[in-house]
Amino acid sequence: MVQSGRVKALYIPEDKIHEIKNRVNIVDVIGEFVQLKPSGKNYKGLCPFHSEKTPSFIVSPARGIFHCFGCGVGGNVFNFLMKLKGIGFPEAVKLLADRVGISVHTETGMSEKRRHEADALYKILQETAVLYQKNLLSSTGAYARKYLKERSVTAQMVQDFHIGYASDSWDSVLVAMQGHGFTSEQIEEAGLVVRNKRGTGFYDRFRNRIMFPIQDSIGRFIGFGGRILNTERQDVPKYINTNENRLFHKGAHLYGFFQAENSIRKEGCVFITEGYIDVIRMHEQGFTNTLAPLGTALTDQQISLILRFTSTVYLVFDPDLAGMNAVLKSSSLLHSRGIDPIIIHLPSGFDPGDFFDTYSAADFKLLLEDRISGLDYIVNSFIDSKKRYTANEKIVILQTLSEYYTRMADEILKEDFSHKVAAALKTDADLIKRKFSQFTRKKVIDTQPSTHQRISTIDTELHLLLLIINNPELFQIAGTRLDESYFNGKWTKKLWNAINGMCDVKGWNAASVFTVIQNDTFKDYLSGRLLEESLNYNPKEQLIDYVAKLKEIKLKKHLADINQRLKTAELENDEKCITGLIAEKNTFRNELDKLRSLRLNKDRLQ
Ligand SMILES: [Zn+2]
Repeated sequence: MVQSGRVKALYIPEDKIHEIKNRVNIVDVIGEFVQLKPSGKNYKGLCPFHSEKTPSFIVSPARGIFHCFGCGVGGNVFNFLMKLKGIGFPEAVKLLADRVGISVHTETGMSEKRRHEADALYKILQETAVLYQKNLLSSTGAYARKYLKERSVTAQMVQDFHIGYASDSWDSVLVAMQGHGFTSEQIEEAGLVVRNKRGTGFYDRFRNRIMFPIQDSIGRFIGFGGRILNTERQDVPKYINTNENRLFHKGAHLYGFFQAENSIRKEGCVFITEGYIDVIRMHEQGFTNTLAPLGTALTDQQISLILRFTSTVYLVFDPDLAGMNAVLKSSSLLHSRGIDPIIIHLPSGFDPGDFFDTYSAADFKLLLEDRISGLDYIVNSFIDSKKRYTANEKIVILQTLSEYYTRMADEILKEDFSHKVAAALKTDADLIKRKFSQFTRKKVIDTQPSTHQRISTIDTELHLLLLIINNPELFQIAGTRLDESYFNGKWTKKLWNAINGMCDVKGWNAASVFTVIQNDTFKDYLSGRLLEESLNYNPKEQLIDYVAKLKEIKLKKHLADINQRLKTAELENDEKCITGLIAEKNTFRNELDKLRSLRLNKDRLQ
């Protein structure tokens, strides 16, 4: 849920973040949400990010990090709060700063400017939500109120979801917000007005629409969705959203999340529907753990937000073609996170918004018993189990389904899926599995010829970095022998630079590293590796070995490069160039031999 725009607008200086991190005790913070018991040097508890019966969630006070060996998440104390509360980095820093009494408001220059800019946007959106609601409840909103009543949206829901009405005017928001002291440019950036074609002025983006404010996970207004009231007009879209801006990222937020969060936690499951009215009607009927993506299918970021609270996901989408495609896409995304969703079939012709016009909450609960799994949904979408397929047809089907199979992040999902496909096609499950892995392997070979080589290089880089993070005093040895150019992986290079930039700070540790890394997958991976009980037998010697290995890899790359240049020079008969290159080659050769014999001797001594 971290919005890239906001991370860039980070206004808290590094040293302050470092200070805050060192002042808070990670065990205390996490201990407020998870019951932790001491276990050796670490603490253990039940993971708050997935449901489990035996604890696999580890907190290391010495390193200032946590990791779950069940679901794989990990990071430092900021990352924990970000994941748990679904907030961004600055908010997490602010929360902990308040806790230890450090002020983060006293920054100067550009960063303060950006902060003010963001604050202004929040204020504009908040004021506009108030204005829209005032409209709805006034005489101009009579028709809008009638529409909402027809759709059985109660006064309580209007309040809970801050539903409003944008009047049929070209400038009422513009004028009202200017009256609050905001500039036209600020109102434009908030996505509420549009510049006219001649570029001479602005007009309101939302006119004569029911307005559904979109809130972020901590309740701030970040945008709007507007539904047209005059449905006879074919020239305007039924729904329009605020355009993407520094606060509003369609793929990162979920409609209704703020209202649903507590209920999701309590119920241990979530209903995902398609639209605003769907969410509201579900809440009204007591299914307050309902939310909706702001497009048709879920995005990876939205799934991350949901998985912080539950892994039991019900998809309640429209039974039309668009809805069916959204179910397939969302299921596959959830499978890639190791989760099989539950699909609820609504009677044909109904969406969750109008289901309750005819049926009751009790009827909806009956539908829950009629559910099918995401795996079954995929199989049923591609295979008609009553039909007899030819061999060729089967191969085509398996090729399509292998795309879904490949994305599944869990062996059990893969196993179940293979069995279901086998049953539907009336063939052997082992054959299906072989076929799937054949298709998958083929794709890997087709697309990534040199993966293996890269992995072993990056693995060495990682081992070296892990060793340094576990033994910060060893950085001295590596720092004088290596530089950035020895690292080939995108993240290992970043990590090396991060450590390099931190080594002067007194008392840096693993937790400091996690403040610099922005990639969640890498963070999870790294925290796991750091908390594995590794055999750090003689770390200094291991480090020297890794340094030598990285040097060797770089020398080999140089040699390959020289060989390439030699070939060209020979073709061009460039004697002078050839002599130079051969000399260069010999130097590198000698160095490489020296490195190799060093390592060989060491091996013989052991
Ligand atoms: Zn977990």
